[in-house]
Amino acid sequence: MPDRTGATRPRVTLKPGREKSLLAHHPWVFSGALADADAAIEPGATVDLHAADGTWLARAAWSPSSQIRARAWTFAADTPIDAAFFRARIDAAVAARAPLVDADHDAVRLVHAEADGLPGVVVDRYADALVVQLLAAGPERHREAIVDALVAATGARTVVERSDAEVRALEGLPMRHGVVRGHVDGPVAMREAGLAYRVDVLGGQKTGFYLDQRDNRALVRQHARGRRVLNAFCYTGGFTLAALAGGADSVLSIDSSGPALALALANLAANPTLAASRATWAEADVFSELRVLRNRGAQFDLIVLDPPKFAPTAALASRAARAYKDINLLALKMLAPGGLLATFSCSGGIGSEFFQKVVAGAAADARVDATIVARLAATADHPVTLAFPEGEYLKGLLLRR
Ligand code: SAH
Repeated sequence: MPDRTGATRPRVTLKPGREKSLLAHHPWVFSGALADADAAIEPGATVDLHAADGTWLARAAWSPSSQIRARAWTFAADTPIDAAFFRARIDAAVAARAPLVDADHDAVRLVHAEADGLPGVVVDRYADALVVQLLAAGPERHREAIVDALVAATGARTVVERSDAEVRALEGLPMRHGVVRGHVDGPVAMREAGLAYRVDVLGGQKTGFYLDQRDNRALVRQHARGRRVLNAFCYTGGFTLAALAGGADSVLSIDSSGPALALALANLAANPTLAASRATWAEADVFSELRVLRNRGAQFDLIVLDPPKFAPTAALASRAARAYKDINLLALKMLAPGGLLATFSCSGGIGSEFFQKVVAGAAADARVDATIVARLAATADHPVTLAFPEGEYLKGLLLRR
């Protein structure tokens, strides 16, 4: 039967008591919460979710292959999921980022999935280019409407799709990447904090740059003057350039990715005002390189540890904890008195309290007393909502020895 929005759509009913999280506007429904559903519902189709007593709860995207079987698009019964819906959500997300864009910053995360009411949709802007990730069956089905709305909201000339993240496999979706609108001719030029960066939007990690660390790069810049800096897991040199711009004496940057380091060198060259002679680079595994440095008696006054996600899920947290402890222990041993350590975890499976405990364990083993100068998180274009605290993945500590 057609409903108030004039559409007929599959109806999915939850088990008794399983409506609570949706009533609190948490957008996910796990397969175990479902009482019954039409087996023929297509991937990405829009469904209406009902409580066991028949109460309407939400309108959601159906993901038949995933444990997260449905993701809510809206909790308003009179809102259809159509092109106008995506335009409204994307316009709101873009408007919310306006304060973060100015003459010195033209790169920003425009859409941060659940926190912007668009589960499975991630969009980063690098100057005139947008990089889009569609990470679930719902966004996949509405791909055209999403891309059209993004172009309308931003006037961007280039749109690249990087739907090549591993989570696509859990959705039964193929990896897809390529240019969707306009054209791409090598790395895209953008600016952060007045510094020039080149972003490999087609071949780089994630969407090409770690925009979530913008505030923390600014913090490192602020503290860098006169310091000997170690930037471990440097990727394309974001913290390296920030430290040089802040007046660091020297910066040693380590990463295992050759292509990332090549782009880091290009980024340094793109900023002729920076003292390039103060930068040295090592293509190496951080775990072994830190041991080499420690055995050599190296000392640093500012160390950045920004490793990849060691624990994508909570199940992998204990193995990840050993890895975090290892690198933090080695770093703390090489931190000169008065030195600063900016240490991060972007693992969704590791909470900030647990991370602090792991770092505290490393400090105890290293026999280093340290003070928490600041608790660090992602920049405001990666918002966290009260209803969806799982969205908070990046946490860090600025410590002083
Ligand atoms: N701090 C960076 C982002 C770091 S992302 C920025 O601000 O842009 C994590 C980086 O760790 C990636 O560049 C990846 O290539 C690198 N990496 C992953 N495992 C590594 C290892 N064992 N040794 C060295 N680098 C590693």
